[in-house]
Amino acid sequence: MDLGLTGKKALICAASKGLGRACAVSLAKEGVDITIVARTPEPLEQTAEEIRKATGVKVNAVAADITTEVGRAQALAASGNLDILINNAGGPPPGDFRDWSRDDWIKALDANMLSAIFLIKETVDGMIERKFGRIVNITSGAVKAPIDILGLSNGARSGLTGFIAGISRKTVKNNVTINNLLPGPFDTDRLNATLQAASKASGKPFEEVRDLRMNSNPAGRFGKPEEFGDACAYLCSVQAGYITGQNLLLDGGAYPGTF
Ligand code: NAP
Repeated sequence: MDLGLTGKKALICAASKGLGRACAVSLAKEGVDITIVARTPEPLEQTAEEIRKATGVKVNAVAADITTEVGRAQALAASGNLDILINNAGGPPPGDFRDWSRDDWIKALDANMLSAIFLIKETVDGMIERKFGRIVNITSGAVKAPIDILGLSNGARSGLTGFIAGISRKTVKNNVTINNLLPGPFDTDRLNATLQAASKASGKPFEEVRDLRMNSNPAGRFGKPEEFGDACAYLCSVQAGYITGQNLLLDGGAYPGTF
């Protein structure tokens, strides 16, 4: 299916690795010119070069922290008039809420709620004027089924989800949709870092912890980042103009509810 995106412009945040990178690759394959952002220059430039070579689209790489005002300004300056915005940032650390200070909460809110809201604020009116826009926020399966030790993530991402539910009905009339993608376990550096920590804490070998976790998923495996990227590209397609305010869970069936 041709997604109708050739020549469109996208900003993909937190995209040198993992799920952000996968979204960038899938959009670039559809002929979208992209700006990708991450803090560490080398892997970012390497990803940019790989995408240029594989797809031939224009790729801007902006080394910046998307959770800061300066970083967002740099990313937006490099992007031009945007058609597509993919919001993403690193996830907050696990822990016990009794140990978290106000500062810990502000960091989580900046990364997983406010960055997305401020980037939407800067870009949505231009999209409305041009009568095309697709905004996708990478949140987490933890919004639907909270994970106790990820309280910072549960809280901040649920705040973003509530905000999106309100505005996504206001923009769709002008062909601007806003949706959230909720990853379950996807095979990325972040997931493997979590499994390393679990292996260390339990004293069990990494492979054993990884296999156990995979086998506990109804699909018997982790998600592949490219599966996530292609779902993102579909939500950005011209065909998806009637889908807004939705929370699409990609978790291999791990969430046990009927809805
Ligand atoms: P990942 O493989 O660790 O990749 C994270 C990417 O984000 C890297 O490119 C990283 O580059 C960039 N990044 C992190 N913080 C940033 C910042 N402040 N500004 C700009 N770029 C930043 O992580 P992932 O698995 O793709 O996860 C992406 C998001 O999905 C996270 O919020 C994570 O919590 C959430 N999630 C993931 C899973 C999963 O199973 N993978 C499940 C649920 C939720 P630099 O470090 O160089 O900046």
